[in-house]
Amino acid sequence: MPFVDSHCHIDGPEYDADRDDVIARAREAGVGTMLNVGTGDPNSGAFERAVTLADEHPAIYAAVGVHPHDAKLFNDLAEKLLLDLVKQSKRVVAWGEIGLDYHYDHSPRDVQREVFRQQLRLAREANLPVIVHSREADEDTIRIMSEELSGYDRAGVMHCFGGSLPMARAAIGLGFYISFAGNLTFKKAEELRDIARQLPLSRLLIETDCPYLTPVPYRGKRNEPARVIETARCLAELHGKELEEIGQITSGNFTRLFGVPPL
Ligand SMILES: [Zn+2]
Ligand SMILES: [Zn+2]
Repeated sequence: MPFVDSHCHIDGPEYDADRDDVIARAREAGVGTMLNVGTGDPNSGAFERAVTLADEHPAIYAAVGVHPHDAKLFNDLAEKLLLDLVKQSKRVVAWGEIGLDYHYDHSPRDVQREVFRQQLRLAREANLPVIVHSREADEDTIRIMSEELSGYDRAGVMHCFGGSLPMARAAIGLGFYISFAGNLTFKKAEELRDIARQLPLSRLLIETDCPYLTPVPYRGKRNEPARVIETARCLAELHGKELEEIGQITSGNFTRLFGVPPL
């Protein structure tokens, strides 16, 4: 099963009624591995929930970290919880998602920057790659990552990439991978596809970010990991490759970055 969904949120209530079916459908579609990202209020149990899901399913890994939306909720207690989870479970393979979101500004920007910086340091100490969420914050994201991660060889991934070509190249220069989600398939996403076409496949990952960003032709429905194939199909067209080849390349990139056994 050559495909990996490198970023999904299937631990949440959206999937309570049919989670096992969703996982089974992913496997039937050829998506053998998923990285489930725990996100939300650190006191809500969301991180524990994500780790439990990964502990229960051999096909699912977990990541934990305080999202930029929730940066204002980050404190010593949240830090301790994250460090404990990282230590407790071998299934936690990344710290994230962390970063900056200047589109929604759910937390004050100075707080977002400080909490991003702090979690980059924690990830580095824990020797984990990071999953970075960056929206309308290209310059600050690159500046903080280059200050905090210089010389770190497990950098991470820019998830659901939506920045500029120079930003993608700067991130790759810092050792990052670039991950594309279902929005790559959107009709209006010509500019994003143009960026994806110019980046080396050896640095690309694919993801759903489900339940959000359902790809064409399923828009309007809840998204799920099986749909990552549509993003792979789009990349295959952009790079003139076979679909299977895109699966193999992006899966290889995934295992290399997160240090997990080959699929
Ligand atoms: Zn995100
Ligand atoms: Zn996400």
